[in-house]
Amino acid sequence: MNDVKALIGTVMDIRGVRENVAVLIEGKCIYDIIPADKIREYDVDEVFGGEEYLIIPGLINSHTHVAMTKFRGLGDDLPLNTWLNDLIWPMEKEWNRKELRKWALLGLMEAVSNGSTTVNEHYFLAGEIAKAAQELRVRAFIGQTIMDLVDFPLAEPKEGFKFFKRWKNQELITATLAPHATDTVSRDLLEEIGNFAKKENALVHIHLSQSKEEVRKVRKREGLYPVEYLQKINILDKNLIAAHGVYLNNTEIKLFAKSGATLAHCPTSLAKLEGSIAPTMQLWKSGANISLGNDCAASNNSLDMIEEMKIAAILNKIRAGPEQVGAAEVFYWATLGGARALRLKAGIIQRNYLADLVLINTKKVHFLPKGYYLSHLVYSAKGSDVEMVFVNGDVIYNSGKFPKIKTSFSDL
Ligand SMILES: [Zn+2]
Repeated sequence: MNDVKALIGTVMDIRGVRENVAVLIEGKCIYDIIPADKIREYDVDEVFGGEEYLIIPGLINSHTHVAMTKFRGLGDDLPLNTWLNDLIWPMEKEWNRKELRKWALLGLMEAVSNGSTTVNEHYFLAGEIAKAAQELRVRAFIGQTIMDLVDFPLAEPKEGFKFFKRWKNQELITATLAPHATDTVSRDLLEEIGNFAKKENALVHIHLSQSKEEVRKVRKREGLYPVEYLQKINILDKNLIAAHGVYLNNTEIKLFAKSGATLAHCPTSLAKLEGSIAPTMQLWKSGANISLGNDCAASNNSLDMIEEMKIAAILNKIRAGPEQVGAAEVFYWATLGGARALRLKAGIIQRNYLADLVLINTKKVHFLPKGYYLSHLVYSAKGSDVEMVFVNGDVIYNSGKFPKIKTSFSDL
């Protein structure tokens, strides 16, 4: 064994808790999980954590637009269409590459510092986001946003296919296809994207039924509800990650669950923009895969998956009833649900799984009384409790510092 690290503490994933263990990492993967006192039997190069640390799988932010950190605080509390059409889109048309890369890097740093090890990104000038992710060494699924029914030069369809071909086989980066939404992309183009994705065995990442306006437009154009439309054009399958899904009817929920597609649930963003909550529990009980996302810092306004878990649990209680959802479900969505969606061998802490791990310091007042690990993680913990973040076994965040970052932000 060489390059061996050990993380000491209490391990928790969706299967349960193991106290006083050491997670051994060799290279990019978890080598073993052993009782902490057995560590002397191994030739370990570096040891992290300790008795009062919690070790969890890296959180997976499965729908985000990290460069939009630039627009945080802009037009808070406006209706979605006014906010998007009058404020955000005019500013997004002005992006230049260098500036976008820096804001994307800041967004990624924020996400990582709050416990994300993987992001699923959907945006313009995606090559710059890929370079930012590579600098930080975070795992990133990235699609270049494509639309053809809105005049938006940065979302030219050919750029989306070009980005995919350029970035499809890079370390830590997985290129996806990213049609914007069911109402902003024509049927011909969406079919072309679907066929391309099938040929490449690629993931498709789209916004779905985010507003009533979107549903109305698709019904008018196609005579179908958005999920029925996606099924008809043969794009609704296990390789589809659809963000939001707020306005789904019962037929759509059943169709979606049966298809194997993933709903990337972004509760904070949609509650803030639309005052609405996706029918997540109905989807979950129908067997749909669900993952969790922050969406963007302009609508959220944080890139913090620990906070997102708490908000997801609480908002779902409003929609589905207090007994319907709890800490276990949202922890699943933030870890294994995201890993399943992205086809990653991650999301649980197990031998031969990716060493994408988060070390949380629980020596704080809000982790008392001791125990209640899942409850404390979801309902009491803060993103700022994250002390270290490992991706591919490599330390990419440690106590407020990002060891891989060379970029200077003094000009922003
Ligand atoms: Zn979005």
